Parts: sequence; C-alpha cells; structure tokens
Amino acid sequence: MSERTPSYEAAGIEADRQAVWAERGDFEAPRPAEGQERAYVKPSSPFTSGNLHMGHVRDYSIGDAYARFRRARGDAVLFGFGFDAFGLPAELAAIERQIPPAEWVARCGERMLGQMKRLGFSFDYDRVFYSSDEGQYRWSQWLFLTLYEMGMIYRDDATVDWCDTCETTLASIQVEEGGTCWRCHDEVRLIRRPTWFLKITGYVEENDENLPKLADWDELSLATQRYIIGRSEGVELDLRAPDGRGITVFSPHRRALARARFVLVSPRHPEVDSWVTESSVGEELEGMRSGGWERSARDARSVPVIDTGETVLGPAGGELPVLVSPLVDARFGPTAALGIPDVDEADADVAARIERVGWEPPAEADGGGEGADSAPTPEVEGARETKRYRANDFSISRQRSWGTPIPVVHCDACGVVPVPEADLPVALPRDLKPTGEGNPLAERPDFVDVECPRCGAAAKRETDTLDCHFDALFLWVPSAVPPEARAEQMFTHPELREWLPAERLVAGNDSGGFVFDQRTVTKALRDHGEFAFMAEGEPFSGCLFHEMVIADGRKMSKHLGNVVDPDELVERYGADTVRLAVLYAAGPAKTLNWSDGAVRFANRFLRNLWIYAHDRIAVLEGTVDDEEAAADTEHIRDRLRKWCDNGIERITADTAALQMHKAVRNITRLFERIQDYEKRVLKRRGQLGRADAEAQLAALALLAQVLVPFAPHIGEQLLVSLGRGEGELCAWPESAAIAVAGESPATTS
Ligand SMILES: [Zn+2]
Ligand SMILES: [Zn+2]
Repeated sequence: MSERTPSYEAAGIEADRQAVWAERGDFEAPRPAEGQERAYVKPSSPFTSGNLHMGHVRDYSIGDAYARFRRARGDAVLFGFGFDAFGLPAELAAIERQIPPAEWVARCGERMLGQMKRLGFSFDYDRVFYSSDEGQYRWSQWLFLTLYEMGMIYRDDATVDWCDTCETTLASIQVEEGGTCWRCHDEVRLIRRPTWFLKITGYVEENDENLPKLADWDELSLATQRYIIGRSEGVELDLRAPDGRGITVFSPHRRALARARFVLVSPRHPEVDSWVTESSVGEELEGMRSGGWERSARDARSVPVIDTGETVLGPAGGELPVLVSPLVDARFGPTAALGIPDVDEADADVAARIERVGWEPPAEADGGGEGADSAPTPEVEGARETKRYRANDFSISRQRSWGTPIPVVHCDACGVVPVPEADLPVALPRDLKPTGEGNPLAERPDFVDVECPRCGAAAKRETDTLDCHFDALFLWVPSAVPPEARAEQMFTHPELREWLPAERLVAGNDSGGFVFDQRTVTKALRDHGEFAFMAEGEPFSGCLFHEMVIADGRKMSKHLGNVVDPDELVERYGADTVRLAVLYAAGPAKTLNWSDGAVRFANRFLRNLWIYAHDRIAVLEGTVDDEEAAADTEHIRDRLRKWCDNGIERITADTAALQMHKAVRNITRLFERIQDYEKRVLKRRGQLGRADAEAQLAALALLAQVLVPFAPHIGEQLLVSLGRGEGELCAWPESAAIAVAGESPATTS
C-alpha cells in the first residue's frame, strides 16, 4: 500500500455519495424523452413494521441494481414504492403502545426510509406514499365503488376463514397450506358472517391463458400463478336423481367415469341446499359451515364429510351417494365432483370412511392411484371437456379499525347504499385508538351515524374496513403518477401510459396472491376503460420472484434469536458490503441462508479493490513512456482487453436478466484477471511501462463502472479517483478504453 492510498472508510464514502445524489435529485423519475426506453421497476411494498429485514434488503438490492443498470444504459427509470400501511400488524403494534395507529405508522415509515437511504437505494423518494393516507385510500374507496358497480364486489352471509388469535377474517390465500393463519400460524376455522367479497372468477381463465405470454416472468413467479389458479382439466357430465333433480359433476379422470362410486359436493356449491332434505343433515351442514370444519383437516382422511342420504344415478348405472365436503374446494373450487376411489387416492380416503359407498380397497400392490386409470372402462356418453379452477373469490372486509372505511351505508329502507363518489373519502377518524377488542369504529357515533345518501333517513355506515389486501390491488399504480396529480388523476394521468405496465416487479415468492389479484383488477379496469391502454390486462410485463433470507437453515425469528439486523451489518461493514453480500450469496430462486462468510467475502473484495486501484493510480505518474517496451507487452494488453470485453458482455447479460449473483461473480473474476495481467507484465519486463499502467487503469475504470449498480458508493468514488467527472459516473460501458495496436484508445460510453 502506498503512503498516498486512502484507506477504505465505507461510512464516509457512502455519506458523501448519498449527499451528492440527494443534492442533485439523481433518482427522480424523469419525463421519458421521445423514443427513450423506459422501465418502471417495482419493488415489493413494505408493511410499515418499523424495521427493514434482510428479505427487504435482498429485494431492494436486486431492484436497485437493476434500476441503476437501466439508468446507466440511458433508459428512463421509475423506481418507486409505497408503504402498505393499513392492516392488523400496525393496529396490534399501536394497541401495544397505546397510541393511534396513524402515529405508529408515521414513525415506522420514517425509520424505514432512513434505513433505505442509508443502504443507498435509488428510489424516487418524492413519490413514496402510504396506503393509509387519506388521499390514497380515497382511491381504494373509488376502486371499491367501481368494482361494486361492475358486479365484482358483493356481500354475502358466507363462510369465511377466521383466525381466533387475530380476530379477523382471512382471504383464502392468507390461509397456509396446513390450514393455519399466514400471520400468526395458528389454526384457522370457518365461521359465517356478512362479508364483502371480490369476485375474481370472471378473470381466472384469462389470467391462466395469459401465462405463456409472460416471457419476462421467471419460473418461480409463474409457478405461483399456476398454483393459485389451480387449473384441473377434465370432463363434466349431468347426473340425475331418481326424482329428476339434476347436478353437474366434474372429474379429472375422464377414462374412469364409469367407476364412480359417489358424488362429492362443495359446501359452497350454489345448489347444495337442494340435496339437504333431512333436518339432521341440514344441522350437520350448518355445523360444517359455522366452524365445525377446521381448515387443518384438509387431508382427505380427516376432512369432514356429510352423507346427505340422497342418491343420483351414476354414469354407468347404479346409484351414487351424494356427499358434501370442503375437500372439493381445496381441489377444484366450489363445484361437485365424481368420487372415483379406484383411481383417486383422496376419493379412496373418503370412500373408506362412508359405509354407504360400499367400497373395498383393492388388494395390495395394484391398489388405487393414477396407474389404474388406464384400465379399460366403458365409455360414458354426454361427458364434455371442461376445466375447473381452484382460485376463488375472496373476502375483502375485516372487522378491524385500521383500514380503509368501506364506502357504503346501511339504510333500513334502502338497504345497502354506496356513498356517492363526490362524498369520498369516507374518512377514518385519525384519533382512533383501538384496544384490540370488539370493533372500535362501531363505537364511534361520529363515524357510524349518517343520513342515507338515497332517502335522507337516519342510517349507519358500514363498520367493517377493507383488508389491506384490497388497498394492495392498486399499490403499484400511484408511483407512476406525480404526487401532486394523485388527488385528481390517480387512474387517468397521462404518465400512467408512459410507465405501465411496470417493466419489472421484484418481489418475494410469497407475493403470488397479491400479484394474481393485481392482474385481475388490471383486467377489470381495462374493461372499465381506465386501463384500456393495457390490452393484455397485465400490470407487470416482467416479474422476478426471489426466495426468502434465513439463518442457520431456519426462518429468522426473534424467538430463535437468529435475526440478522441489517443496521448492525451496515454499521460494521458499510452499505456496499451488505448489498454485495446479499446479491452474491445466492441466486434469486434459491433461499439465502445467511452466513457471515458472504459479508466477509464482499468486504474483503471491496477493500482489496479500493486499495489496489488507489495504489495503481499513485504508480502511474512514475511510469515512463517507452515505445519498445510498449511493443513488447502489446499482446498482454491485448489479452486484458479481451478479458474486459468478455467480462462486460457477461456482466451485462447477467444484470439484464436480474441474475445479480452471476454478475457479482463475474465482477470479482474480472478483478482477478486485472491482477493477473499485472503479474504477466511484471514477469516479462519487471515493471509496468506507461502504456501498461494506462491500460490497467482503463480496466479498473471499467470494473468500477460495472460495480456501480451493485455497490454504488464505492463504485462511483473509485471512478472519481480515476479522474472521471461527476457527470460520467452513471454510464454503462461497452468496452474498456485500452488501446489496440494501430488504433487510438476506444472511448467508453
Ligand atoms: Zn392469525
Ligand atoms: Zn335510505
């Protein structure tokens, strides 16, 4: 290390660069120029929890690298987000601290913004918003009224998933596979209460059929869509009871229809009640609907099954018992299905439990399973090709106070009356202090008591609020609208056409449900007119899902004491090190098992590069221009140039494909080659001539430039040290400025 080499002090370098960026407003979304490529990079919307966790750092490091890369290539970039600020977690935190949730959310948001800025994420911070802002949830209410008018929102006294711990209804995608709550992981049960639903069924098929067109979606994100949609291909046919009542049944086993032994009807099937003739069966069904069915019992061996005592005539003659079970919903949605225990394991489990089915499991070895599907069976007439989708409408209302008020009024005379659009927003009392019990909104006369907008009589406001999942339906939209225009033109501003669909969503792999619903609403607003310019009805033309960050092979949790705190890491190593480590440690499709090894590796790399580059800058002045020596090492410089060209090609491709772990690996490899180049020159001549040293600095400048998206502070500071002007720091190079024999040095661009 030369005496003149400044030591690598991450904190100081990072503070300097961040001050320059803020001063210049580098990350404000520009108005795209005519013909300029544009990219709206949409990161996940954080809950206002008060702390960034390593999953956020992963998400934003990938998104930021991509946003900076696109800017460096000359594209117009919008990199923005809003906080998902309503919802139970904020409400519970406020209850615990005995402060209004609004206050808690503001505090959390501020802290998280500070963390993001410290990490150097290049968001357009002027566009940040909170879903709990009045100007924001006014549009949630507008969306509610619009979808209500379109027939996509309805109220039904229905069976809903209910979490006793969280005291709230849950959307089906908030119920984990084992029948537990997404939030507290306690068991969920079904209850019946009046609930608002979003009808998604009208767009499920289009959402399914569009998947092959989504070329810039990674496999992980497509897989979550396929799973949520849950398409089953098969046939349907009409069966009749001896008294003439009919039912249409589905089966994925088209070649085994004649072997059906029973019919299984969903408790949510619109005609299920017509198969309930005995009062005891009616009571059983009511019990199933109102909580008797624990979601954890989704397994066919323990899921409740009700025998209605009714029968229909089977496709091959014979009588089939009609059974009711939510097992159908979990497989094919709220439909009716043929039970064919010979070929279907779940059906076999049901058949074994209901004596009236009279089915005996076949002897060992050739037992049930799909294999038996190929056994010859009589043809069944009247079977029609069809599909079923598991995806179903979901509840959007919650009996909670920290959420968007639902803009309807209940009037004794008029029934449900939507609040006129001119009267929006229906404001949530800002001083509301929930206690965790009951429904605080219902206890506020200043909120509840209103005049009916239709007849003027005394009426009551709806006291359920919208699930924050509903606000999230359009949480990707506001960033594309200048903040000052949002009050008037949230869905009609001309800039929406410039930025939408978003070029890339970068989100955790648990975002599939949000994305599915956002795709649904985009199609609805396309058909309603606002989003007519998005013909495919797709909000994201590209999508990258990444896996989570864990530690010691386990999910991070306070309880296990294995939570990695990004602040501590930044404090100790600097933001660039943390970002580089998170990107380097695993590809997006892999779970990142955090280890200090990655952070030590990244820190060592940056430190070595910093010292190495500054040492070479210092050495340049002492070198001499010697034509003969230069000719003698020409071929080594040529080799370096090829290494650089090759490296830049790979790093460009990796970054464009958001495979940041590969890009970082190729950056470290390029640094090794630059060092190798020097060793080769030294071996041949004992020292670097001026041409050799210049070539090396050109290679180092190239390296610093491609490092910028990943470790922006040190990357830019190195470029400054290498003599680049402030205006030249954000540019993606095409080649290194290394002279080739007979040519003047190519300029980087
Ligand atoms: Zn819960
Ligand atoms: Zn009325």
